[in-house]
Amino acid sequence: MAIEATIYGAGVFGLGCAFALARRGARVRVIDPKGVAAGASGGIVGALAPHVPEQWNEKKAFQLDSLLMAEDWWQAVSDLGGTDPGYARTGRLQPIPDADTRTRALDRADGAAALWRGAATWTVEPAPAGWSPGTTEVIRDTLSARIHPRRACAALAAAVRALGGQIVPDAHSEGLVLHATGWQGLAALRDARDRPAGNGVKGQAALLRLDRRDAPQLYVDGLHIVPHGDGTVALGSTSERDFDHAEPDVQLDAILARACAAVPELAGAEVIDRWAGIRPRARSRAPLLGVWPGRQGHFIANGGFKIGFGMAPKVAEVMAELMLDGRDAIPEAFATHGLAPWTRGV
Ligand SMILES: Cc1cc2nc3c(=O)[nH]c(=O)nc-3n(C[C@H](O)[C@H](O)[C@H](O)COP(=O)(O)OP(=O)(O)OC[C@H]3O[C@@H](n4cnc5c(N)ncnc54)[C@H](O)[C@@H]3O)c2cc1C
Repeated sequence: MAIEATIYGAGVFGLGCAFALARRGARVRVIDPKGVAAGASGGIVGALAPHVPEQWNEKKAFQLDSLLMAEDWWQAVSDLGGTDPGYARTGRLQPIPDADTRTRALDRADGAAALWRGAATWTVEPAPAGWSPGTTEVIRDTLSARIHPRRACAALAAAVRALGGQIVPDAHSEGLVLHATGWQGLAALRDARDRPAGNGVKGQAALLRLDRRDAPQLYVDGLHIVPHGDGTVALGSTSERDFDHAEPDVQLDAILARACAAVPELAGAEVIDRWAGIRPRARSRAPLLGVWPGRQGHFIANGGFKIGFGMAPKVAEVMAELMLDGRDAIPEAFATHGLAPWTRGV
């Protein structure tokens, strides 16, 4: 008999885990009253970009694993469900505005050579003509990739269904239960001192009609500028801990102006979408993964914060291993054991 698993939350964490569970033979049912990618995962940016290769720790190592497995993982999603998630490893350029940045960049090139297992490079080189972050020299890394968040979730949903899984607005839970309920779930979970396990951080992003599909993404002035494969370029994002509504507003206009000042090629491109979402930020700022303390058969996958899409492949696989085989390969820094046993969550 196949193991049954119920997953609350149809964002990239819930759907990614459902996919990994179903691939291992579990019968999965995803429950989300708002449907697929109604939360933070329904966005447009999709930068899959590495942490800087220095001051290495288990979070950075976990993210590196996830980025390196992403191409095959998303290909499997696409093959099974027949829907393209928009993945491409097109790299990234960052500006080098001064001598200090250049020195740091060269140190990090050594860091990448030592830490990235020969799978990607970090180099200092002359800026290419045209599409560039506006300095004469740039950092290029070949590890960064892009994905189209909304389409990636649609692709995961198609793959889950192709594997016999269901995605429904409401149902009773059966079997093992995974809670992947985004910022609402974090805010409802409590730690032993009765503080919420995390909160929501709003972000805003825009989509422009501009075809740079083969160009690398840019990271400039704190902004991700990500060319997608469909002839659009996404840019974002704001980071708002205090907000009184969930819609895009004038803060997005400020981001657009900053991006156009940094990359003149963006100026004049038509804005075809303005989007806002609320990221799940755990108190630790790291993902929150593992068993739900004191609730037999219940598990948590949350806290993707700003890099949920980059982390999703590895999160999905370690959660499926934990739930089905009892093998715990979750870094200590992500563990759920600080949560109060009596916490009910959503
Ligand atoms: C503007 C912006 C830009 C971003 N850019 C990037 C980027 O470039 N790269 C990157 O890697 N990440 C990025 N992120 C972060 C990424 O989007 C998130 O980390 C990720 O989407 C979190 O996924 P999730 O599945 O945990 O949460 P969500 O996508 O929020 O999903 C949670 C789901 O749970 C559902 N839910 C809530 N309560 C219940 C309940 N009781 N029962 C059932 N379902 C419930 C909700 O309806 C929701 O659909 C960005 C986020 C934003 C907002």
